[in-house]
Amino acid sequence: MKKTVMVTKIEPIWQHQSWQDELSNAICDKKQLLKLLELNESQLNLSVNAALKFPLRVPTSYLNKMQKGNPLDPLLLQIAPLVNELVNTPNFTEDPLLETERNPVPGIIHKYQGRVLLITSGACAINCRYCFRRHFPYQDNNPSLKDWQASLQYVQERPDIDEIILSGGDPLAANDKYLRRLIEQIAEISHVKRLRIHSRLPLVIPQRVNDDLLSWMDTDRFDISMVIHANHPNELDSLTAQGFKSLRQHGVTLLNQSVLLAGINDTAEILIELSKKLFSQGVLPYYVHALDKVAGASHFDVTAAKGRELQQQLLDNLPGYLVPKFVYTEPGSTSKKPL
Ligand code: SF4
Repeated sequence: MKKTVMVTKIEPIWQHQSWQDELSNAICDKKQLLKLLELNESQLNLSVNAALKFPLRVPTSYLNKMQKGNPLDPLLLQIAPLVNELVNTPNFTEDPLLETERNPVPGIIHKYQGRVLLITSGACAINCRYCFRRHFPYQDNNPSLKDWQASLQYVQERPDIDEIILSGGDPLAANDKYLRRLIEQIAEISHVKRLRIHSRLPLVIPQRVNDDLLSWMDTDRFDISMVIHANHPNELDSLTAQGFKSLRQHGVTLLNQSVLLAGINDTAEILIELSKKLFSQGVLPYYVHALDKVAGASHFDVTAAKGRELQQQLLDNLPGYLVPKFVYTEPGSTSKKPL
C-alpha cells in the first residue's frame, strides 16, 4: 500500500543528462581532470601508481562543485590520487575492519547484532580516496539477482535480523529495475522491518533521485532511512536540496555520516557549517567517523585527541540535535565506539 503523502512536483532542472550518462562519462583521466580544473601538474601531486591501485573516478556534477585553480579544494582532495597514497604506514591495512572475516556468504557482511549489510553493487559513482573498502574483494561479493537466494536465505534463517543495510560500493549505482526486484524479495522476509541505504549518489549525481527511484521507495512495507555521507558543506547545493526534499516527501529518513579527514573537514568551522547546512536540507548529522586505517589513506588521518577537541567545540557552539556522535570502529568489534 502506498503512503498517503502530499508530494510537490519538483521541476527537473538538471535533467540535461541522465544519471547513467553521468556515471559512464565520469572523469577517469588525470590530464582531463587538471584541464577542467585549470590546474597544472606542478600544483597537484597526482600519481599514476596511486591511480593504478585505485582508479581516479569523478562525475562532472561533483567536479562542478570544485573551485577552479585551487589545488587544495576540499572536494578535489577527496578524489585526487596523490603521491602520499604510496607511503607505507604501519597499522594501515587492506582490510582495516576485518570485514572479510565477517563475510559468511557472498554478498553479506554480518558485523552487528540484528542487522546485516548486503553488498548490493560493487560499483561507485566516485572513488573516494579514504574509502575503507578500496581494497574490498567485490569480485567475490557481487551476486546477480538470480544469486540473491543464498544471501536472502541467510537473513531468512535469522529472525533476529530486522534491518538490512544496502551497501557497496554504492547500492544506488544499480538500476531501479534491479533494486525494485531485490526489495520485493527482501519484503518477503517478514522479520525485516527496516531498510537502510548508504549512498553518496544523491550528493555526487543529484539527478539519481528520480521518479523511478522514488517509486520503489514509496512503500509502507519498511521504514527506510538513507545515510548520505557528506564530508564538506561544499558538497551540498540547491540540487542536493531538491533531491533530499523529494526523498523526505516519500517518507525516507535522511541521516549523514562524515569521515573526519585531515585537510578537508578537520576544523570546527567546517563541521559546524556542515551540520547547519545538512539540517537546512532536511538531513540530520548522525556520525563523524574517525578514519578507518586503510592502506593508502594515512595522509587523511586525524588524531583522536583532535577529534575529541572538535567534538567539544561543536557541543559548545551547536544545539545538541546538530552535534553528530564522534565515533570509531575497532577492527572486528560489534559496535562503533565513542571517540
Ligand atoms: S563505497 Fe562510498 S566511500 Fe567508498 S568509494 Fe564508493 S562512494 Fe566512496
